Amino acid sequence: MTQIEAAKTGKITDEMRAAAASEDRPIEYIREMIERGRVVIPNNTGRKARIVPIGQGLRTKVNASIGTSSDIIDVAEEVEKARAAEAAGADTLMELSVGGDLDAIRKEVIAAVDLPVGSVPLYQAFKEAIERYHDPNKLTEELLFDVIERQCADGIAFMAVHCGLTRLTVERLHKQGYRYGGLVSRGGSYMVGWMLANNKENPLYERFDRVVEIFKRYDCVLSLGNGLRAGATHDSLDRAQVQELVINCELANIGQDMGCQMMCEGPGHLPLDDIEANVRLQKRMSDNAPFYVLGPLVTDIAAGYDHISAAIGAAEAARHGADLICYVTPAEHLALPNRADVVEGVRAARIAAHSGDMVKLGANARDRDMSKARRDLRWDDQARLGLFGERAAEIRASRAPEQPDTCTMCGSFCALDNVGVHFKESLKTGGKL
Ligand code: SF4
Repeated sequence: MTQIEAAKTGKITDEMRAAAASEDRPIEYIREMIERGRVVIPNNTGRKARIVPIGQGLRTKVNASIGTSSDIIDVAEEVEKARAAEAAGADTLMELSVGGDLDAIRKEVIAAVDLPVGSVPLYQAFKEAIERYHDPNKLTEELLFDVIERQCADGIAFMAVHCGLTRLTVERLHKQGYRYGGLVSRGGSYMVGWMLANNKENPLYERFDRVVEIFKRYDCVLSLGNGLRAGATHDSLDRAQVQELVINCELANIGQDMGCQMMCEGPGHLPLDDIEANVRLQKRMSDNAPFYVLGPLVTDIAAGYDHISAAIGAAEAARHGADLICYVTPAEHLALPNRADVVEGVRAARIAAHSGDMVKLGANARDRDMSKARRDLRWDDQARLGLFGERAAEIRASRAPEQPDTCTMCGSFCALDNVGVHFKESLKTGGKL
């Protein structure tokens, strides 16, 4: 029985109990949200990962993606990147390798972390079609479903599957007649090529019932991939992307009715003032299914610092209701990320998620306590309360002040230590402070 099936019968599972404890929410709230398809718990009946509930009323979660490319295949490094992402505070991990022995890499990465691990099966399906038939468009339906089953059997907890990328969405793209950023989804672009070459409907849409049955066997979360996501701010909310979103929202509700845990995925690249609309559209059309966004990047000209561009968009998306944000690293658009890129990406996304949650959930008590610790020059408390206490302490120690209470930013001109001294006690004791 899947989590959503259990929730529909009123059953409380161990996973629901752990989810309630980790989020400090009533168990009944978690059960009801799972029943209504508004919360999912990515896991797998064959591999018990950390319980990370995702969805309405819960802390915004951060995903880190790792994986080999065809140019750089260093499995040990990918395993270290996965561990680094977990240590940096990622909530989920996606293993997105496209180079090397994909079955072996997936097993190694899953074994290296406690996190729920996600995947995109189209990568492996098209890679195996190329290896077997020397042509990705010769991918057979049986091979495609075999890859999905194989990845589920290895313990994958959530999978991005491009079910909503149909002939109708491709037609919409043709009629639209432009795409500033082209097609930036690897799985999406291959699937569009397959449909055009074979003049056939996407089997992931046509046989959606078969996809759902596989996922239900493992209680794996089916995350509806965004194959036509905007990869440029000028493509934001274009008709092709919205067409796919409409279908994905429809499929999310169909999958939930069939007893499968469902999520929808989103872009990509969006200007700041389109983000709220995108989240609202997804939430309204799917009856609040969990929304997983990549970034979104709010400008296309920040290469080298795209983790910041993405964090700005992710904060706005989280504020308006996005539930899981995929990190972006400083190497985005430029190269395969290394370990340092992964850590920077996770940290930037965590700031974004927390900033969104301060508004979405009113989760601002820690910020208030930090303000008071700063005001009172309590440096140990600042290190404890900060998202990155160790890093903060390291920077402070690297440029130690002459007066130990202060820091070298102002030194003896420390506003809090000197000018504020006349008000210090009254600030602390006056009113409710
Ligand atoms: S020295 Fe300046 S920056 Fe440092 S704690 Fe004092 S006021 Fe803040």
